[in-house]
Amino acid sequence: MFENLSERLGGVFERLTKQGALSADDVRTAMREVRTALLEADVSLPVVREFVKKVEAEATGARVTKSVTPGQQVIKIVHDALVQMLAGEDDPGTLKIDNPPAPILMVGLQGSGKTTTAAKLARRLKEREKKRVLLASLDIYRPAAMEQLAILGTQVGVDTLPIVAGESAVQIARRAKQMATLGGYDVYILDTAGRLQIDAVLMDEVAQVRDAVSPRETLLVVDGLTGQVAVEVAEEFDAKVGISGVVLTRMDGDGRGGAALSMRATTGKPIRFVGLGEKMDALETFEAERIAGRILGMGDIVALVEKAQEVFEKEQAERMVRRFSKGLFNLNDMKAQLDQMLKMGGMQGVMSMMPGMGKMAKAAEQAGFDDRSIRHQIALINSMTKKERANPELLQASRKKRIAAGAGLDVAELNKLLKMHRQMADTMKKLGKMGKGGMLKQAMA
Ligand code: GDP
Ligand code: MG
Repeated sequence: MFENLSERLGGVFERLTKQGALSADDVRTAMREVRTALLEADVSLPVVREFVKKVEAEATGARVTKSVTPGQQVIKIVHDALVQMLAGEDDPGTLKIDNPPAPILMVGLQGSGKTTTAAKLARRLKEREKKRVLLASLDIYRPAAMEQLAILGTQVGVDTLPIVAGESAVQIARRAKQMATLGGYDVYILDTAGRLQIDAVLMDEVAQVRDAVSPRETLLVVDGLTGQVAVEVAEEFDAKVGISGVVLTRMDGDGRGGAALSMRATTGKPIRFVGLGEKMDALETFEAERIAGRILGMGDIVALVEKAQEVFEKEQAERMVRRFSKGLFNLNDMKAQLDQMLKMGGMQGVMSMMPGMGKMAKAAEQAGFDDRSIRHQIALINSMTKKERANPELLQASRKKRIAAGAGLDVAELNKLLKMHRQMADTMKKLGKMGKGGMLKQAMA
């Protein structure tokens, strides 16, 4: 649907020489393409203008590295500028929720994904941070909304505030606070009602709730597929209620995530999480690099080279070669491989940087090498003891149960991982035998 920015720029720069510095003309030409690409990605116009101006100044006169084309050089400059602009906190996934019970307020338009995200977040806090979480719906307008939260709460194993008919949103918030305090909860999450559009009544109600509980975090939930609207929504909520961060939902769709850039630029508030589906585990910490890549449709060799350098730290590579050539490949080795893959943008990312590999990327995804599966696999390995990682044959039923639970996943997923590991270990053994590591050394050099 979208033309890749890398491709666009590649065409523009084909006629330019490969050496020297980028001229003002080169940069201006390139920036026209960048501008269109950002608008297509649904970044709002004022943000695009500001961004282009900034990058233009930065790129003019920049030296073109020998081994890359000027187009690639510009892409790298644009990419770095995007990451810089998108990046907020060092660790956006860590919420400020000490001093229990800590209230978290979820706000946003109707249908943006507040209720779903509230439950996903509750699950995450419970599983990762071992928090006791209470969920409460303040949506007094749609009776089904409270039920919806109660069902999701049951699904993720988190308590919900009992429903009492006839209360106002503020009354419910107060009751949630009370129950959280008396019940020894660490966190209580308040899921507010949304309207289809911003309106004064809604804002007023949310502000009253805010005053009643003084939330530690107020998270604005925004549909990642919306472009311009997202900016208005973010500005309005920030002005009237005050937000501490943003959650972008529906990033599993084919929108390009331009809303992320717009919102970050206009509100200055960090994006903390992205929603990647309807399931309860489909919530991930926001990563500026990934969204920048997505906005750009980055598919360039420069990034591959750069990331490859970064990732293949020499020492580790050599250690690996030594181990593999002896036919050694335990779960620690596998984790190192998976980490590396993830750093390079997952199998999809690695392959999309190589021309003509789109089909293989699909196949890899089917084989369980998409980003999410890789993350799951890493979580499973992380949940094992040192001894288990070194000796996967120790993994009998009870250990498997513990490991899967620790990672918040099913034993079936663990079994899949172990099978994959056995296959990889077999391959390593064969390769190792073939040339005492000669082949592997070559492959990794
Ligand atoms: P609310 O009105 O803001 O509370 O929105 P809901 O949480 O009820 O979500 C509205 C719809 O969007 C539901 O069908 C959700 O399953 C769906 N939804 C929420 N987050 C995501 C997401 O990250 N990806 C996808 N594909 N759907 C989502
Ligand atoms: Mg809702």
